[in-house]
Amino acid sequence: MLISLANSPTQPGVAADLGINRVNLLGLDERGLRDFFESIGEKPFRAQQVMKWVYHHSETRIAEMTNLGLALRGKLDKLAEIKPPAVLDEQHSADGTIKWLIGHEGGGNAVETVYIPEPRRGTLCVSSQVGCALNCTFCATGAQGFARNLTTAEIIGQVWLAARALGHERNGQRRITNIVMMGMGEPLLNFEAVVPALSLMRHDLGFGFAAKRVTVSTAGLVPGIDQLKDAIDVALAVSLHAPDDATRTALVPLNRKYPIAELLKACREYVSEKHKRTVTFEYTLIDGINDHPEQAHKLVKLLRTVPSKLNLIPFNPFPGTRYRCSSPERIAEFQEIVMQGGLIATVRKTRGEDIAAACGQLAGKVKDRTRRSERIKLQMAETTS
Ligand code: SAH
Repeated sequence: MLISLANSPTQPGVAADLGINRVNLLGLDERGLRDFFESIGEKPFRAQQVMKWVYHHSETRIAEMTNLGLALRGKLDKLAEIKPPAVLDEQHSADGTIKWLIGHEGGGNAVETVYIPEPRRGTLCVSSQVGCALNCTFCATGAQGFARNLTTAEIIGQVWLAARALGHERNGQRRITNIVMMGMGEPLLNFEAVVPALSLMRHDLGFGFAAKRVTVSTAGLVPGIDQLKDAIDVALAVSLHAPDDATRTALVPLNRKYPIAELLKACREYVSEKHKRTVTFEYTLIDGINDHPEQAHKLVKLLRTVPSKLNLIPFNPFPGTRYRCSSPERIAEFQEIVMQGGLIATVRKTRGEDIAAACGQLAGKVKDRTRRSERIKLQMAETTS
């Protein structure tokens, strides 16, 4: 079931009695909203009316939803609210990229959302968790440790805030044309909250994005990929980063649990029923680690078995990292080899570097519950002393 009341711990009836903890309707997809209206003795079609107000008109005030009767508006005001997360900070890059810090004041509980404008499209990069528990060794979010999962309201709230800030359209063109779940966190480890948010991105009365324009990126959680296939139609991106298990495990420790062969099998199954659909493999190029021509040749062999595209990402440094970016020559050579081998490969342009908004640089404000950041600091102190 796709209802998530995680952001409203009390049930509607109780909320009315106490006058607190109103249900945040931003946390409910169409199914959840229909169930909510039924549970308060109203017609389920009210769900559609409310979605239109919230997602097409950016309206949060129930009193302004004029096609709901006055009595219903009064009742709803007591039971429910539409509460987007708070914008704590906004930064603009010289290249037009915008980064928002979104979440709760204080307490190390904020995530980052990034808007990347390009001539013919605008991509919004959305976070799914405060921090991340997967410890990928080359990622700033991983180095922060993990605090908590975001709620559905906080995930869809990032899209809602960005759409409102940018204006839904300019010159008849949508400002946000693509959504990628490539911000902070591992989306498939927050499945229950992520799927209703994806449903709201896709739904016509939500943001109305086509399946190929909403991408979930995973570090390779095989059971999550299988589950996603059955839950909702979206595009899949997989962070591969190496053509062999030893190198991949050193970069993405999750590989120990779900090695490359299993991961690629899940990817093949993901696209098998979807005509003309491909998996995007992300491959961050790190100097001396995974950028050797031999590794490019190996990658060609490996990916021949999966309908796929390869997205090469120059490594973006962050404070405290031991890795360096591959040279432009190395990157060009790697791309040349994989393309000669018949793969479709693009090099991702680094965007928003001056505001630490590039891939892998998102740190947000994380109250680390895993103590990973402490352990890293200790290790660094030991190696430098
Ligand atoms: N957990 C998901 C979502 C994060 S997406 C996943 O792993 O796919 C962010 C993408 O940027 C991933 O492909 C990730 O591996 C990559 N990335 C992380 N750190 C990076 C860095 N420092 N430089 C370049 N890319 C990085």
